[in-house]
Amino acid sequence: MTERLYRDDPYLLDFDAVVVARRRHHDRPAVVLDRTAFYAESGGQPWDTGALGGASVVAVIEEDGEILHVLDAPIAQDRVHGRVDGPRRLDHMQQHHGQHLLSRALVEVASARTLSFHLGAEDVTIDLDRHVSDDELRRAEARANEIVWQARPVSVREVTRKEAETLLAGELGGVRSAPPLDERARIHSARAMDAGERVRLIEAEGFDLQACSGTHPRTTAEVGVVLLVGHERYKGGSRVRFVCGHRALADAHRRQRVLDEVGAAFSSGLEGLPEAARRTLDQLRESERRGRDLLDRAMEGEARRLLAEGGGVPAVVVRAYDGWPAADLRLLAGHLVALAPCVALLGSRADKAHLVFAQSEGLSHDVPALLRDALTLVGGRGGGRGNLAQGGGDRVEGLDDALAKAEQTVRARAGEA
Ligand SMILES: [Zn+2]
Repeated sequence: MTERLYRDDPYLLDFDAVVVARRRHHDRPAVVLDRTAFYAESGGQPWDTGALGGASVVAVIEEDGEILHVLDAPIAQDRVHGRVDGPRRLDHMQQHHGQHLLSRALVEVASARTLSFHLGAEDVTIDLDRHVSDDELRRAEARANEIVWQARPVSVREVTRKEAETLLAGELGGVRSAPPLDERARIHSARAMDAGERVRLIEAEGFDLQACSGTHPRTTAEVGVVLLVGHERYKGGSRVRFVCGHRALADAHRRQRVLDEVGAAFSSGLEGLPEAARRTLDQLRESERRGRDLLDRAMEGEARRLLAEGGGVPAVVVRAYDGWPAADLRLLAGHLVALAPCVALLGSRADKAHLVFAQSEGLSHDVPALLRDALTLVGGRGGGRGNLAQGGGDRVEGLDDALAKAEQTVRARAGEA
C-alpha cells in the first residue's frame, strides 16, 4: 500500500519514490508509487497535479485499493522525483478547510447540517439539510471568518472508531442528533476510514472536529477569508456557494472589473450604479413607448396618403416598401382597413420578402387564399384567418410579381361582382 506523505505533512511538495506498478487508465499511462505526496481525489477534494519523473501528473485516483498517478507520457525509470503543484494544493486546502469552518458555523448559527461538498475548478458548494435565510448565512459567514482571523491551530489525530464516535457525539450541542460516523466520513472523505478501525480526525481548536482525510493547513488563518457568493433552494434545503483565500481575492477582482466597465458605460461611481441603471431603463421604456406612438401616427398618416392616392370603393391598395419589418406592414394594414373599405396588399423587401394582406370588415375576398397564391412566387410560407394573412419567403426578387398576382385576382373578382 502506498504511504500517503500528505497526511503527515500537507506542505511537502517534493519527494522521491519508487515505481511499484505500471498500469493504464483510459489510454493513459499510470504508475503506482511506494510513497506519494500527491493527493488522490476523495471526499469532494480534487486530485493534485504536478510533475513525476519528467512526465506531467494529470490525475490521481484511487482504484482497486491503489493510488494511480495518471501521466501524460510514460516514464521508464523506477526511481522518480515528484513535485506537487503548490498553488493548486494551497487552493484546495483553503477551500476545503474553509468548508469545514463554514459548515460548523452553519450548525452553530442555523442547526443546518452539511450533506455534501463539491470543490470545482471555479465553484465551491455545500448542500444543507434545511433551508437557511440570508440573515443566517451572513451570521455563519461572520462566525467562520472570526475563527479564521483568530488563527486557531488545526491538528490531526488518529483514534479508534469507538473513540471517534464518542468524540463526535453530541457535537451539535444537543440541538439535533449527531449524524452517524460513516455518513460524516463519506461527506468529507471515505478515506478517513481506510486505516481499518483507525479514524483520522481534523480539529480546528475548540471549534470544529471532523473525520476527514483531506489536506488541511496548520492554522485556520491560512484560509484567508470565507466569502459567500450565492445560495439557492436545493432539494428541500439550501445550496450555498462560497470561495476562500485566493479565490475570494480573484472573485473580488473579477467583480471589480465588471463593475468598472458597467460604471464607465453609465458614467457612474459604484454607489450610484443601481440608480443610474434604473434611470436608464426608465428612459429606455419611455423612449420605446414614444417610438411606438410616433410609429403609429406615421402609419396612420401613410394610410391616409395611400387611400387619398388610390380612390375606388372599395379601394385596392398595393404597395411594396424597402426594409420594413413585417410588424410595420401589419400596423399599416390595420390603419388602412379601419379608415376606409379597402383591400390592402402590402409587401416589404427586407432580410426576406414579407407579405401582409388584409381587408376591411364586410368585404368577402378569401385573404388567406390570396396570400397562399402570392407566396408561391416568393418561395415562402405563411397563413392567416379571415381578414388578415401574412407570410414571407426568401425570394425577394419575386415580391412585385406576388403583389401583382394578388392585385389581379382582387380586381378580377371585383369586376365580376
Ligand atoms: Zn474535510
